Amino acid sequence: MNMINQSELSANDLEFDARHIWHPYTSMSHPIPAYPIVAAEGVELQLDDGRKLIDGMSSWWSAIHGYNHPVLNAAAKSQLDKMSHVMFGGITHPPAVNLCRQLVAITPAALECVFLADSGSVAVEVALKMALQYWQAQGEKRQTILTIRHGYHGDTFGAMSVCDPDNSMHGLYKGYLPPHIFVAAPHCRFDAPWDDNDLAPLRGQLEQNHQHIAAIILEPIVQGAGGMRIYHANYLRGVRKLCDQYGILLIADEIATGFGRTGKLFACDHAEIAPDIMCLGKALTGGYLTLSATLTTRHVAETISNGAAGCFMHGPTFMANPLACAVAHASLHLLLNSDWQTRVQRIEQQLHDELIPLKSLSTVKDVRVLGAIGVVEMQSAVNTAQLQQQFVAEGVWIRPFGKLIYLMPPYIIQPEQLRKLTAAISKIVEQNSLTNAY
Ligand code: PMP
Repeated sequence: MNMINQSELSANDLEFDARHIWHPYTSMSHPIPAYPIVAAEGVELQLDDGRKLIDGMSSWWSAIHGYNHPVLNAAAKSQLDKMSHVMFGGITHPPAVNLCRQLVAITPAALECVFLADSGSVAVEVALKMALQYWQAQGEKRQTILTIRHGYHGDTFGAMSVCDPDNSMHGLYKGYLPPHIFVAAPHCRFDAPWDDNDLAPLRGQLEQNHQHIAAIILEPIVQGAGGMRIYHANYLRGVRKLCDQYGILLIADEIATGFGRTGKLFACDHAEIAPDIMCLGKALTGGYLTLSATLTTRHVAETISNGAAGCFMHGPTFMANPLACAVAHASLHLLLNSDWQTRVQRIEQQLHDELIPLKSLSTVKDVRVLGAIGVVEMQSAVNTAQLQQQFVAEGVWIRPFGKLIYLMPPYIIQPEQLRKLTAAISKIVEQNSLTNAY
C-alpha cells in the first residue's frame, strides 16, 4: 500500500505555506510566521525540530482533554472502521442519536431538539434562521436581532452581522450585512456588586422596538473574541426576564463557554437560566473534529415545523458527521465522568494567584479570571508575531490578539505546566513593559 507519511516540513514546505496557504486573519503578502507543529500529546505541541510547547490555547478553546487522548482516539478509530460519513437526510445513525441524547440530558431541561452542523459560525446561522422562521410561522415579519456590544459570534455573514460593529469586520462589509440593534455591553463585572442600571440600555431598546425584534443573541457571562469581558450573572437573569416579558427568543451562544470552561457546565448555569436556543461547538468534540449543535425548545421547533415551510430550512452535507458525533459522544462521556469541576477550580485559583499581580504594571490595564480562563488586558494593542516568538522561546504556545494576552489551557494541565504558562506571561509582560516594546 502506498502510504503518505510526511511528518516533517522542509524549508521548501514552509515557503510553499507562506506563499500559497491562507492562515486565519493573516496577510498573504506579509504573513507572520507559522510554526511547524508535527505532533501533539497531552498539553504539549511538538515543533518539527523536536521542541515541545505547553499549550495555553486549547487550540482556540476546544481541546479540553488535551491532545492525542486514548479515549478519543479509540472512539474515532472504532467509528472509522464502521463508517466515517453518511448523509443525514432520511438516515439516522447511532453516533448522532447517542450524542443528541446526551446533549438533551445535560443542557437546560427546556432544550429538547438538536440541530447538528459543521462549525460554530454555522450553529449561529442556524440559531438566527430558527428565530426568523419562528416569527414567520406565526405570520410576523420580525427580522431584527438585538445584541450587546463586544460580542463575537463567528465569521459567516449572519454571525458577523451580530458581532461588535466597531471591533469587527462590519466596516469592511458595510451595506451587505443586515442591520441589527446593538446596546452597550454590561459594565458590572462577574465578581463586582450588581448595579441594575446595567440593564437600562437593553430595557430602553426593548421598550421602543420590541415588536420588531425576533431574538436577543449574546455570549453568556464571558464575551470571548470581542474582548474577553466577564460580566455579572444578574445581567443574564435580567435579559431572560425581559425576553419573557416581551415574548422574544433568547439565543445563548455557548460555543466558547460550554462544557465547563467558566466553572459551570454551561455559562447560563451561573444565572440558572435556560435560553430558547443554545449554540454549542468548539469543545463539543474535545477539539478533534469540527461539529456544532444548536438546541431549541419543543415549542420553537414545533412552531417552525407548523409554519408555511413545513420544516426548518437548513441541511448541510456533513450534518451529524458520524466520526465527529462519535468523538463528541466520547468527549462528553470523558468530561462528565471526570472531576472537571475540581480541575477547573484549581486552574482558576492558580490563574488568579499567578496573573492578578500583573495588575500593578503600568502597561497592564486589567487582569480577570473565571474558571479556566485568564486574561491580561494591556493598555495598548500587542505585536502578535513578536509576542508569539517570545513565548515560543519560553517553551509555551500563547497567541495574543488586540490588547489581550490570555490563557485557556486544557483542563488536564498540571500545576507546574500552568506555572510555566503564567511565568512566561509575567516575564514577557514585565520585560516588554520595561522596554515598551508593544
Ligand atoms: N461563537 C463564539 C462565542 C465563538 O467564540 C466562536 C469562535 N471563536 C464562534 C461563535 C464561531 O465558531 P467557529 O470558529 O467554529 O465558526
